[in-house]
Amino acid sequence: MTTTLASDHELLESVRSGDDAALRELLTRHAPAVFRFALKMCRDRHDAEDVAQETLLAAVRGTKDVRGTSSFTTWLYAVARSFCIKVRRRQEHPLAAAEGTDAVTEVPSDIRAPEEDAVAHELAAALESAIGKLEHKYREVIVLRDIEGLSAAEVAEIVGTTVEAVKSRLHRARAEIRASLGQLLPSPAASPTSKEGPCADIATTFSRYLEGEIGPDACAAMQQHVDTCTSCAAACEGLRRTVALCREAGRAPFSDALQAQVRRALDEALRRARSPKKTRRRVIS
Ligand SMILES: [Zn+2]
Repeated sequence: MTTTLASDHELLESVRSGDDAALRELLTRHAPAVFRFALKMCRDRHDAEDVAQETLLAAVRGTKDVRGTSSFTTWLYAVARSFCIKVRRRQEHPLAAAEGTDAVTEVPSDIRAPEEDAVAHELAAALESAIGKLEHKYREVIVLRDIEGLSAAEVAEIVGTTVEAVKSRLHRARAEIRASLGQLLPSPAASPTSKEGPCADIATTFSRYLEGEIGPDACAAMQQHVDTCTSCAAACEGLRRTVALCREAGRAPFSDALQAQVRRALDEALRRARSPKKTRRRVIS
């Protein structure tokens, strides 16, 4: 049943009939995404490992009750998100935490850049930093949509809001990240020809275009303007590169150290599921 290329759907079926090996395979498949999400949200590797472990433990206990492959993925992220919120509360109340607020701004740097050259590495590091500067509600949306590649509808389900709200936060998050990346990406000319019309907010319009939110007429009008306005052309290119950079970040391989952390979180979750009375190293609360 659980041969190498079983789909999530097949694995879920096996889990529901009590197949422990299928459960391990399913969680091994999803654990890196859970860990990456936690890392981006918590900005701290130890907290991310805690979140991953708690999420995977919840998955060990609850997966067989989740219906549908898509709902399994959204359910898993929603669980991870709730543990990230607990960690954030702890980070925001330093008296309850061992570390000070420095932990919040730590930049995890050993997710490998897509290429080993200096420019790619600089861009990847700048993206990490830019994501870290985002307010939580913008950060979670861009991580889930642009880095993890979930649909806007799935993100809305995970964060408990409307698709419209997700898209609105997404456009703002993309614009803020693009601004943080500054001269590393193509920049609009110093003085656009006009502050009215498309020049006023081309980045948002282009982001809406990427989300399929604008109709063919508005799309044609934007294209026509961009063809003749170098400032807006650069702004669109900068935003397009920003989204592409996020997608690459979601595909970048983990370092050996991060892979080991993911495995440890999974092994620990499976061990705790078997021996529920044992206490653990650190407690999220
Ligand atoms: Zn323009």
